[in-house]
Amino acid sequence: MASSDRADFDTDLFVIGGGSGGVRAARIAAGHGARVILAEEYRMGGTCVIRGCVPKKLFAYAAHFRQDFADAAGFGWSVPPASFDWATLIANKDKEIARLEAAYTANAETSGVQVIKSRAVFEDARTLRLDDGRTVRAKYILIATGGAPNHGKAIPGIEHVISSNEAFHLPELPRRILIQGGGYIALEFACIFAGLGSEVTVVYRGDNVLRGFDEDVRPHVRAELEAEGITILTGCTVDGIERHGAGFTSRLSDGSSIASDQVMFAIGRHPNVANLGLEKAGVAINPNNGGIAVNEFSQSSVSHIYAVGDVTHRFNLTPVAIREGHAFADTVFGGREVKVDHADIPTAVFTQPQVGTVGLTEAQARQRFAVVDVYKTSFRPLKATLSGSRSRVLMKLVVDGASDRVLGCHIVGPEAAELVQVIAIAVRMKATKADFDATMALHPTSAEELVTMRTRAARHVREAAE
Ligand code: FAD
Ligand code: NDP
Repeated sequence: MASSDRADFDTDLFVIGGGSGGVRAARIAAGHGARVILAEEYRMGGTCVIRGCVPKKLFAYAAHFRQDFADAAGFGWSVPPASFDWATLIANKDKEIARLEAAYTANAETSGVQVIKSRAVFEDARTLRLDDGRTVRAKYILIATGGAPNHGKAIPGIEHVISSNEAFHLPELPRRILIQGGGYIALEFACIFAGLGSEVTVVYRGDNVLRGFDEDVRPHVRAELEAEGITILTGCTVDGIERHGAGFTSRLSDGSSIASDQVMFAIGRHPNVANLGLEKAGVAINPNNGGIAVNEFSQSSVSHIYAVGDVTHRFNLTPVAIREGHAFADTVFGGREVKVDHADIPTAVFTQPQVGTVGLTEAQARQRFAVVDVYKTSFRPLKATLSGSRSRVLMKLVVDGASDRVLGCHIVGPEAAELVQVIAIAVRMKATKADFDATMALHPTSAEELVTMRTRAARHVREAAE
């Protein structure tokens, strides 16, 4: 950094947003010697820590005990009738989130980042304005403002609807809950509430949940959730909500109505770009997704302004935001250009059972490759022989028939997320089906099926164009 910069600017980097992407970028940039200010308007840690991945996973653990207690009987355990206390879960979760929030602030400050608890908006392309009216001139600016839940269209009674934000702080566990949506959040919360004892109805507009996931995964997940007592209504939407005392009646597009104690929408999220003053800074929006338009280095249309994470609406996952933030800091302050490779990102839906997936679905592979081989198996795991659980595991490998490379792996079952994190290394290393076959099985596990599936379920050969 030239010494004149120190005089021309109040800081080398101003980061807007203290979530996954912003905090990583700020800490790494400070480590490279930059003067860094980070502004956070709500709570340090952002969506993932405060009202996303972390509290969601804690809730999912809580919900799983129902299954564990039920499984225990077949192994000789008599478990007295179990009872669940929502207030205890919320209090313990809040304590842990407060601890993490403090750790995020402390780690940023220890790295040399100045953390300001304030909203920040653009005054012009170099200047940020804080809540108290102060302005800061920055040489570089990183927008890492994340996203927020969509509310959908303005139907009657929309004011009664909660999003995942409120679901983490409900005063009591709803006896009945209606959840609209068929994606990550809707299904994860459906399993959380069902596991904790609520009667759950999922309302989804399409023909089956988890659009975009492999076509073998979708019906398998739906059947598993329905077997756990979750009602899934497809091909309809919520058209209106009326309040009756403490409860609600939701009117559906098919003419039916559902009574519940809470109505939750999980119908996607939008990037936080509104009221940031982006027009004053000249920062362009990507017309395809409504996020900030960026190039492969996360650089916006204004050369000294960058954006990472959910606000760019590329892949809305925490590890992606972190990688993008880190790559930005290395590129701009670390003296080496780093691009994030967005291929083969593993992802999981923390339903019960979990969905883990990496690489291409069968449909995507068949679009891109001339010959696609499919290996799949569905089975009851060993534990079910004594627990009596009817739940089945699905494992599927999608393989390029020409090179034998494994293009995708899809798992529904216990610890699918943990399995897919490890399989993702093999997929990224371009492992072949022969490599999988040559790997010794580890017995007795469910995962051994991944290296013992010898019989091809299907080969799809694309006919040559005339
Ligand atoms: P965020 O973490 O959202 O941080 C943005 C921050 O900017 C926020 O703290 C916000 O308060 C602040 N801010 C906004 N505007 C301003 C402003 N003008 N001035 C100052 N501060 C501002 N991802 C996974 O990988 N795994 C999961 O299991 C998972 N589960 C999820 C569960 C739920 C319910 C939700 C909602 C999301 C989940 N995600 C999960 C997604 C993950 O949380 C996000 O992808 C990730 O948090 C994005 O990080 P970010 O830094 O882009 O934004
Ligand atoms: P998703 O995009 O996963 O799902 C949105 C769902 O809502 C889809 O089923 C969609 O239907 C439906 N929908 C969209 N618009 C409407 C509408 N107007 N009316 C009725 N239904 C509608 O979004 P989520 O909100 O579940 O989660 C947001 C993102 O957060 C995820 O995409 C993911 O990136 C991240 N996340 C990641 C998690 C993880 O890693 N485990 C967990 C939670 C969130 P259709 O399919 O027909 O479009």
